[in-house]
Parts: sequence; structure tokens; C-alpha cells
Amino acid sequence: MRHELPTLEYALDALSPVISKQTMELHWGKHVRAYINNLNNLIAGTKFENASLDRIIKESEGALYNNAGQVWNHMFYFEALSPKPRKTPEGRLLDAINKQFGSLETFKEQFNKSAIGLFGSGWTWLVRQENGTLLITQEQNAGNPLHNKTGNPLLCADVWEHAYYMDYQNRRADYLNAFWEVLDWTVVEKWF
Ligand code: MN
Repeated sequence: MRHELPTLEYALDALSPVISKQTMELHWGKHVRAYINNLNNLIAGTKFENASLDRIIKESEGALYNNAGQVWNHMFYFEALSPKPRKTPEGRLLDAINKQFGSLETFKEQFNKSAIGLFGSGWTWLVRQENGTLLITQEQNAGNPLHNKTGNPLLCADVWEHAYYMDYQNRRADYLNAFWEVLDWTVVEKWF
């Protein structure tokens, strides 16, 4: 089974100026494509040859996990972005955020603080733990909460430099502040 680069729901310039067309061309068009090519090469002839991406990220290690994790994480990240996002959560998700973090604004501050504080390359996640509570977690490199069993992913921010360096240079905080302008909470609600 070959994994394929899916078609994005929006044009490569649609998230501009938060995320520029140049960043999308490099990030989606080159980085994600390379992870998918590596994944296809690494599963050939292994027990993961016909496995779902979910199973691969839960059960694999090493180079295969790194590439599969990056494919999974990027699909999840780009699916939640939109040129016409609903910028606030509603209903049960909003209740859960208010209960856990006090307010949406406080949640965003804590999420950004975690993402800014992540040393090197990685991802910051909002996950729902087995007991139902929400948790902000950091993952290094290709780290994924389903592999590390920290909870079910609801939302992630890519803080690898390739995600923001062309648009924000070293100002990771500016990228994260702008990130909320293109995050579609209807997608986060779907995962919740
Ligand atoms: Mn990335």
C-alpha cells in the first residue's frame, strides 16, 4: 500500500499572510512529500507494508517511526488550518477548556508558552487524556501522543523551524500568535 500526498482543502496561498505561499510550497510540497516518500521506502518488505498509518505510528520505532510520525502529524496540523476558520470553540469543547484552563485566552497563552519553550524541533499538542481531562504536551522531533500514549490528539502546532522561519525568522512567538488566526476550531471539535 503506497501512502500518497493528499490534496489540501485550500490553495497554497490561502493562509497568507499568516503562512505564506512560499512556506506552504516548501513545507507541504517538499517536506511532507519527502516524509511520505521515505515512509513508502521504509515500509517496503516489512510487516508494515500494508498497515494503516495509525498502526505504523503506534508500533514502529526508529527511522520508520520518525517519518510516519511526521506524515501523521502534518496531516493533522494542515487539516485544522483554514482560510475561513471559526476562531472560537463552542459547546462541550469550550466548557472543557474553561474548566481545565480557566478561559480560552489562558489556554492559548499556556499552549504558546509550551510551544515557545520547546527546545529544538517538535510539536506542541492539546490532548484529551483517558480520564477526560485536557492536557498540553510537548513532543520532540516527530513525537506523537498516540505513540507515547499521552492522550487522544485534538490540536497540534508544528514548531520545527521549517514551519515558520521564512515568514517569522527566529520569532517563534509571532508565528504562534498568528497561528490562531488560521486555526479552525470546528476541526478541533470533531476530534474532541
Ligand atoms: Mn513541519
